[in-house]
Amino acid sequence: EAHVSAIEAANDALNAYVLVTPDRALEMAAESDKRLAKGEGGALEGIPLGIKDLFCTEGVVTTACSKILEGFTPHYESTVTRNLWDAGAVMLGKLNNDEFAMGSSNETSAFGPVANPWRREGSDDKLVPGGSSGGSSAAVAANLCMGATGTDTGGSIRQPAALTGTVGLKPTYGRCSRWGIVAFASSLDQAGPFARTVEDTALLLNVMASHDPRDTTSVDAPVPDFTASLKDGVKGLTVGIPKEYRIDGLKPEIAKLWDQGVEWLKAAGATVKEVTLPHTKYALPSYYIVAPAEASSNLARYDGVRYGLRVDGDDVISMYENTREAGFGAEVKRRILIGTYVLSAGYYDAYYLKAQKVRTLIKRDFDQAFEDCDVILTPTTPGPAFAQGEISGDPLEMYLNDIFTVTVNMAGLPGISVPAGLSGEGTPLGLQLIGKPFDEATLLRAAQSIE
Ligand code: GLN
Repeated sequence: EAHVSAIEAANDALNAYVLVTPDRALEMAAESDKRLAKGEGGALEGIPLGIKDLFCTEGVVTTACSKILEGFTPHYESTVTRNLWDAGAVMLGKLNNDEFAMGSSNETSAFGPVANPWRREGSDDKLVPGGSSGGSSAAVAANLCMGATGTDTGGSIRQPAALTGTVGLKPTYGRCSRWGIVAFASSLDQAGPFARTVEDTALLLNVMASHDPRDTTSVDAPVPDFTASLKDGVKGLTVGIPKEYRIDGLKPEIAKLWDQGVEWLKAAGATVKEVTLPHTKYALPSYYIVAPAEASSNLARYDGVRYGLRVDGDDVISMYENTREAGFGAEVKRRILIGTYVLSAGYYDAYYLKAQKVRTLIKRDFDQAFEDCDVILTPTTPGPAFAQGEISGDPLEMYLNDIFTVTVNMAGLPGISVPAGLSGEGTPLGLQLIGKPFDEATLLRAAQSIE
């Protein structure tokens, strides 16, 4: 009830929830109370959560914040959310995101932009909460839920976490099932938790992670209790610092935060070592080939026949065209155009195939680096939260937000963003830790030493 009233009071200003489901929430909470009274109950019994609108929720409208999915009500539940409800969690509603999770500022949503609950000191300008999981980060930061789900294809959990002072974890590719999550770029997409502490993040991951035969890329790996090693500290761990991340033009306050992170980890007993990831500079351009290519293929299914919106035409082809013209926003159309271009005969070898080869080199860089260290520390973002409208007209500038996060998706690795301090403007900044495949436990342990 407290969360439902908090949402009522704050959501008009933040626009974090696109759909609030108070009746369902109170019903689920009452069921939780009954289980608890009987001495039963799951790991997340009664915990109120917000769900990114990319997760299909049975009987509850799911639109990926796109007009093209207007009114789409799935008759199935995503595996990740099913796991959460089976553990007793309570759904408060569906959270805003960039349309089809394409963006870094939550300004491409068909439901309008989300406001970051933080403001610059002495200014009332509305700032972005990061994206694409901007509703999730804003809702967690503003206490409109105790935790939230997000998805991360190129940074969409970690970047918004950094810009709102929350914790966000992108698990290893294959750790959480993608079944029932609206697909953006299938070889990069991964679900993960947002919370206000590292421990809460671990508790959520414990439940979200599972092997799922319905997702052929879900991996049958043991899911340890991620809270078990949190208190172990970083003594004995080696932390790698990739020199290529000290990019030209790195903002002094970001460099300082990074150095501060190194000092904290050293003081906590870690050994710190420089590592090299030589192909880093190719990660962003190759990501912006692979992700749109897969998106153009995944989005082919929205044709006015099977889901959501239909705009009639004289014949079936014009119906498809009218539907897609009216249903997709500008950023989604840009991705479809880039994607179909890089996959087309004649350009495939030069772009898509080349990007896939670069991807292998990026993965090998990490394999090599992890021979010398246990986790890698970098900044999460090149700067703090920017104002709404500040860069939304410049796609390249927007894509540069993902410079430190996309490598992790290209290599399929786990990554976490943990709040690490404030910018000169008084807004949050985050540090990113990158781990070995399926070693989220070490990642969370190291994150707790920074927190
Ligand atoms: N900002 C990146 C993009 O627009 C990442 C999005 C994401 O991780 N879903 O593609």
